[in-house]
Order: sequence, then C-alpha cells, then structure tokens
Amino acid sequence: MKSIIKKCPECRSYTLESTCKKCGTQTVSTLPPRFSPEDRFAKYRIKVLYGKDR
Ligand SMILES: [Zn+2]
Repeated sequence: MKSIIKKCPECRSYTLESTCKKCGTQTVSTLPPRFSPEDRFAKYRIKVLYGKDR
C-alpha cells in the first residue's frame, strides 16, 4: 500500500488526514515533483527497458 502524505499549509505539519487535526485546515497532498534533473537518464532507462521487450 502506498500512503499519501499530506501537509497542512497553516501549521506546516504532515498528516495522513484530509484535514489538519490541529487547526482544521484542509491539507494539501505532497506529491513528488513530476520532473527531476535525472529525467534525461530516465528516458534512456525507459528506452532500454522497452527496447528489451520489443
Ligand atoms: Zn494545521
């Protein structure tokens, strides 16, 4: 199972709830960045993986 960690923008605390238990503010999900500096290398990795398959 993957757990989605959420963050309260008010008190900057991390929680798994959709609302902060401390201040009741709606928390925002902390998604990992879509693009990383290693994206170029990721392309090559994908190419290698799919290249083997086909
Ligand atoms: Zn809070």
